Amino acid sequence: MSTVYLNGRFIPLEQATVSVLDRGFNFADGVYEIIPVFLGKLFRLPEHLKRLDNSLSGISLSLDYDGRKWRSVLDELLNLNRVSGDSTVYIQVTRGAAERNHFYQSGYTPTVFAMCKPLSGLDVSMGISAILHEDIRWEYCNIKSVALLPNVLLKQYARDKDGSHEAILSRDGYVTEGASSNVFIVLDNTVRTPPKSNRLLPGITRDLVVELIGKSGGPCLEVPVAEKELLQADEIWITSSTLGIAPVVRLDGRPVGDGKPGPVWRDTNDRYQAFKTNN
Ligand code: PMP
Repeated sequence: MSTVYLNGRFIPLEQATVSVLDRGFNFADGVYEIIPVFLGKLFRLPEHLKRLDNSLSGISLSLDYDGRKWRSVLDELLNLNRVSGDSTVYIQVTRGAAERNHFYQSGYTPTVFAMCKPLSGLDVSMGISAILHEDIRWEYCNIKSVALLPNVLLKQYARDKDGSHEAILSRDGYVTEGASSNVFIVLDNTVRTPPKSNRLLPGITRDLVVELIGKSGGPCLEVPVAEKELLQADEIWITSSTLGIAPVVRLDGRPVGDGKPGPVWRDTNDRYQAFKTNN
């Protein structure tokens, strides 16, 4: 049976319920995090908690959970669910239940929820396909908001269109990110990824990939990536905590490079896999 954490208690999933007046339900007034667990260990926990704090302050929601409190809640959750292999932890915090009104006040009790979720298990080693789509989302994409309807519609559109796994998004002619991932390209032997801004989520995997490439001596440029450059790229990768680094081998039905995972991906992915096992 799956045990979840809800508002201070560890309970079976079937018993975990929230009010229909929860502002997460009525207004998507909440934020979330997904933290990968490798070999039973939370990966990059401080970085994920920092991003959760930023998301909470981005919606002016104060929560009295510090790093130690989260660590003890999540360790207990993994323990109760006997997680010893690879998994993920999903955290959701909403502004809590209150009479339905767009205006909010201080003093609500936030709803705090966490559960273990299996890793996607998608084998990306042969590459995945993606489509390119206009970024139809709002201007606060740096906040990991639970208001994911545009992302849901974009991903479903990608799947329905040609069985693609991801929609790579572009705004004003420049790549922002994927509907649930960050984007890297290899062009003229340099790795490039769009710089952090309000138009994309600061991915924890993205940051690690930038760091690993930096340490290996090869530059990873955090620069705007034009749609035109995406279309000319020798390699395209998407990154996320659940997928790792996935090579995109088809974009809108056309092969990327020679249509196979590229050598720079292979090298970077080897470093990433090694880092995962040693940290
Ligand atoms: N962008 C979006 C929109 C996402 O949903 C995700 C996945 N959480 C990412 C980027 C990748 O972030 P991370 O590497 O922290 O999983």
